[in-house]
Amino acid sequence: MEIKDIITKVQIYSPEADCLLIRKAFDFADLVHQGQKRKSGEPYIVHPLTVANILADYRLDTTSIVVGLLHDTLEDGNIKFTDLVKEFGTEIADLVNGVTKVGEIPLGEAKEEEFVENLRKMILAMAKDIRVIIVKLADRLHNMQTLQYLSKERQIKNAKETLDIYAPLAERLGMGEMKGSLEDLAFPYLFSKEYCWLVNYTKEYYKKTEEFLKDATREIYKELAEEGIRAKISSRPKHLYSLWCKLLRPEINKDINKIYDLVAMRILVDSVKDCYGALGVVHSKWKPVPAKGVSDFIAQPKPNGYRSLHTTVFSLKGRILEVQIRTFEMHEQAENGIAAHWYYSSQKSKPRVSDEKTEKGFFAPDEKLSWVKRLVAWQKEMVDSKEFLETLKFDGFAHRIFVFSPNGDVYDLPQGATPVDFAYSVHSKLGDEARGAIVNNKMVSLDFKLKSGDLVNIIKKDGSKPSEKWLRFVVTQTARRGIQKRIKS
Ligand code: MN
Repeated sequence: MEIKDIITKVQIYSPEADCLLIRKAFDFADLVHQGQKRKSGEPYIVHPLTVANILADYRLDTTSIVVGLLHDTLEDGNIKFTDLVKEFGTEIADLVNGVTKVGEIPLGEAKEEEFVENLRKMILAMAKDIRVIIVKLADRLHNMQTLQYLSKERQIKNAKETLDIYAPLAERLGMGEMKGSLEDLAFPYLFSKEYCWLVNYTKEYYKKTEEFLKDATREIYKELAEEGIRAKISSRPKHLYSLWCKLLRPEINKDINKIYDLVAMRILVDSVKDCYGALGVVHSKWKPVPAKGVSDFIAQPKPNGYRSLHTTVFSLKGRILEVQIRTFEMHEQAENGIAAHWYYSSQKSKPRVSDEKTEKGFFAPDEKLSWVKRLVAWQKEMVDSKEFLETLKFDGFAHRIFVFSPNGDVYDLPQGATPVDFAYSVHSKLGDEARGAIVNNKMVSLDFKLKSGDLVNIIKKDGSKPSEKWLRFVVTQTARRGIQKRIKS
């Protein structure tokens, strides 16, 4: 790949891009990295070029592409911050500095303090300008793609870091495709036996499924055409690592036949109206599986902004199949998340999202940033970095469930969360005054373990206080802190 290919790519989605600046950044980086080699033996410049190319695939702005090209000049190139300011201005220099700062996140017990400090910097940098983290993710992606050239020790360290930090970050930012790729790249380095087993296991399965999917797709195309709905249908196998995690769940117990979204059928349509239209078409052709139901993430998006209709149906010959229906724009955002968001919001010619755009599912939900904002608020409150780290481990990177309040708001909680955790995440007063809970119309105890999709209604009594016993079962730091605060007062 050459810089002119990247410039051509950028010009297609952004005619007003500053190509001269991109070219200048490339020449600068090329000079700085002159004579340096990657562990693969390739000239070093290949790495910044690849990173810039990934960023161009995400359709990012000129500044991001330039930062991608320059991202290693401070760290590996002996260039001073002031040189960057002089050549490229403060905005770009600050961003490159940000990427460098969040660069090395040592894990492991001995360096915990340092780890926390870096994580802090990363989150602060993220809050200041999200492009820092997008560039960092692109950098990590290429480093994972070339991980085979590093020592075994480094391989394991980087793969672990990727699973622990970068993939969850990508997920939180709604970058589903990035998350899946990072996990799948890390997977073989950490669980090589399991990885090989799964690759073989699924190869057989996919071979058998191919023919079936072709027939099913043909049928749905026909039905949709009869209803006048223009659509694009595709089906892609689930990412290997997320499949592996699912297989490990106790109720599945490594039985691949119990996984229905192994290959999901994806129907992309033009408008929100067509999404529901297509859902009707699918359901009139194939009956939904009763226990699975329909998830409407368009009316109620997931906290990371994901929007889609999901249904599980008895398809051809009674085979259970998951079908996902969304607009092209929703799909773009589901794959690219915050990066897509950034692209849309940077289009200055669109001061206001038009009704037509909204109908196409074009809006960019701001909620994607709310997790980052919350973390920043916490880290300001917390002087003790150990507590901050615990919070991150506690709330930030644990597996999540999604539950609903009676008026339909979605709450994002860690696995194992209880009605008390839910109550405190709604409002500290609701947590303090909780006396009981009704989950899906059934009375439950306050230590009940919530599941994704639960509808939670808190019964409260004005003026009542939390019980110290709650500390034994709550799993969120918000609840823990709320309870302690109220007990002390
Ligand atoms: Mn790099």
